Amino acid sequence: MPGKNLSRDEAQQRAGLLSVIGYEVHLDVTSAPEADAATFRSVTTIRFRCAEPGASSFADLLAPAVRAVTLNGRALDPAQVFDGARVALDDLAAENVLVVDADCAYSRTGEGMHRFTDPVDGETYLYTHFEPADARRVFANFEQPDLKAPYRFTVTAPAAWDVYGNAAEESVAAEGTARTWTFLPTRPISTYLTAVVAGPYHVARDSWAGELPDGSTLEIPLAATCRKSLAPYFDAEEIFEVTKQGLDFFHREFDYPYPFGKYDQLFVPEYNIGAMENPGCVTFREEYVFRSKVTEASYQGRANTILHEMAHMWFGDLVTMKWWDDLWLKESFADFMGSFGLQEATKYQSAWVTFANQRKAWAYRQDQYPTTHPITADIRDVEDAKLNFDGITYAKGAAVLKQLVAYVGRDAFFDGARQYFKRHAFGNTVLGDLLEVLAETSGRGAAAMADWSAAWLETSGVNTLTPVVTVDAEDRIAELMIIQDGETTRPHRIAVGLYDREPDGALVRSARVEVDITGNWTAVEEVVGRPRPALVLVNDDDLTYCKIRFDDDSLATLRESLGDIRDTLARALAWSACWNLTRDGLLPARDYLDLVLEFAGAESDIGVLQTLHAQAHVALDVFVDPSYRAEGGRLIADAALRELRAAAPGSDHQLAWARFLASSADSAEHLQLLEGLLAGTARIDGLEVDQDLRWLLWTALAAAGRADQAQLDAELARDNTASGSQKRTQALAARPTAEAKAAAWSAVVDSDELPNAMVGAQTAGFQQAGQRELTAPYVARYFELLETIWAERSIEIAIRFVGGFFPRLQTDQATLDATGAWLTEHPQAAPALRRLVLECQDELARALQAQQADRG
Ligand SMILES: [Zn+2]
Repeated sequence: MPGKNLSRDEAQQRAGLLSVIGYEVHLDVTSAPEADAATFRSVTTIRFRCAEPGASSFADLLAPAVRAVTLNGRALDPAQVFDGARVALDDLAAENVLVVDADCAYSRTGEGMHRFTDPVDGETYLYTHFEPADARRVFANFEQPDLKAPYRFTVTAPAAWDVYGNAAEESVAAEGTARTWTFLPTRPISTYLTAVVAGPYHVARDSWAGELPDGSTLEIPLAATCRKSLAPYFDAEEIFEVTKQGLDFFHREFDYPYPFGKYDQLFVPEYNIGAMENPGCVTFREEYVFRSKVTEASYQGRANTILHEMAHMWFGDLVTMKWWDDLWLKESFADFMGSFGLQEATKYQSAWVTFANQRKAWAYRQDQYPTTHPITADIRDVEDAKLNFDGITYAKGAAVLKQLVAYVGRDAFFDGARQYFKRHAFGNTVLGDLLEVLAETSGRGAAAMADWSAAWLETSGVNTLTPVVTVDAEDRIAELMIIQDGETTRPHRIAVGLYDREPDGALVRSARVEVDITGNWTAVEEVVGRPRPALVLVNDDDLTYCKIRFDDDSLATLRESLGDIRDTLARALAWSACWNLTRDGLLPARDYLDLVLEFAGAESDIGVLQTLHAQAHVALDVFVDPSYRAEGGRLIADAALRELRAAAPGSDHQLAWARFLASSADSAEHLQLLEGLLAGTARIDGLEVDQDLRWLLWTALAAAGRADQAQLDAELARDNTASGSQKRTQALAARPTAEAKAAAWSAVVDSDELPNAMVGAQTAGFQQAGQRELTAPYVARYFELLETIWAERSIEIAIRFVGGFFPRLQTDQATLDATGAWLTEHPQAAPALRRLVLECQDELARALQAQQADRG
């Protein structure tokens, strides 16, 4: 579609020409509950100035039909000025009024105005999601972050509904079976931050109050909502508790009063991402409303997301990046603040362990793709922008900010943030604006901050730090050298830990030194003369962003006793380093599995344990030599059952091992146990076989050919919910038959009717681990369809197709060659599509390399 992919150049040009005075948006969604509802009425009035009267520009709108366009009182012919993506605006005056009356489409992909019908009670729910550029699916606008303006929304909806927007409601007027909500004008915000949520949502309310520096009191009304059918599971008290702790924390640290009035948090169905920071109207994926028992790691993850979104009220909403190149200015900060706030203000005290072990694994993976990019990115258009919500922008950026705090100190860091908010409130910024305040508050000066930025923000790739230990005749350290590898070396402020055994066998830190790493070789003088330790841990306390290696003696210590490291963070760092060694083909994958078999049972941190489970599956599915898969699989399934039986009844660890058993079971004995747990004829003391666990067991049985459609339908009848429907779909697709694979493939490929969540369920079931032969016939078809799907589907669905159906189970040279051939033959394919395929290719090449290493 012409003009659908808005470019940075166009946006820059438009921002130079136009400034927006304000929007009035009226949406009529009274049609939403009708079964065949396709569109809703959207009437937008934009008042804006033009710096060069007589000039031309355009507004953005993705709508099936436009009824009328009026510019400065002149009626324009929609057929002439609207091409499906843009409204052409010619002969602009110094001050303009544009009115666009359109029929916009309800969405089933989570983009724009998503419409969902609850199978439990038939109720309809709506919510919007716009980032980076989908507000234009709901109303006509200038879709770029630097044309901020106040918005006044009015929404006409069924009378029994509630409607939520960015601002508080001013009035609600009844008109027959409908009501119209008129909202107060917002503060100046960007298009992608506007939001409307409507439906018969269940709501809980509370409020927060805090004293401001001037002695006055700020009161913020709080609301938390979910679908009515989820209300029995909604733990609003816990959500409000974290919310209030966050508001206390950010007011203390940021010293800028929350500027958006109320604070609603809405848990919505079929959401594409974790959450979205719409000012005053934050939307979350409703999987955060836990229907079944989950581990503490899930509660911590949700609390982290709550704080991440709240940090955005300042980093992102109050001060916004000028264009998507500087997306990191909000996402890196919010990601850092999520963990920082968790640790400082809540009961979740393993925030940095999770960050080191999970979040950074994401960054390391992404940073080694050929498609990696500097944290400050080069974003040519909104398709590029869509793909940059990645491990670099979030996790690496956050890790680099953690390093910045180590470099300039916590006080200087927060002083800088406070200056930044005051100076740029309701405005837009670029990298230089941040460096400017940091140069002032850190006392390090502009040149030092520019050097820091050049090293960390403006280059890509991860450094590797390797210790080289030399000992003298008395077995004392004669020299400890740290080697830095990587395309560019960087300055790192790190801690080095030396660990020794206690009499009880525990590995405990006996010395810690902080050192500045520069260049390729750095000697750590402070440890010379100390007895040779059992373990040297570089980047102890996880201050910097790097991959770490071990000297031979330390690696031998880990192989023998990784689980004996007493400190949770140090142990998590050791686990993470061993995983990187495996991914890099330096540690045979079966050796990594041995570490998991040996030490995971004693891992106390539940988040780390769940990561180990996931990584063990990757190691087994794609990294070990294929000839070892059967034996390795048996070993991990046996270990899962052993640890399940040994875990404390009712504990999180018990649940984690039960899930791991369900995903590993392949012997008749194990599968019979799963059947017994479902039927209630087998019991594990303290393990509640609740609905989510039931679906996991059913999926395992279906994948093993031990559950048929009738049984899965019966389970759906028992759990006739949105979640149940998705899980049944996944289980059906996981069955080990050619027909099941064909049905899953066809459901996604032959029709564009499936909602986003169902596409995900189909691809997950299709790529069931171990079903290589069944999915092999789809390799050629996949590559044939790539460009068509990319062109014809919305980007959310296309991304699911590209990643979900990529033949990642076919770890062989032929599939790698087929991937390379497609890339060679399609140099002109959309850059965002090529990027996704390049990343899949890289993972596949890495798997082949790891298999080679595993063969020895
Ligand atoms: Zn974010």
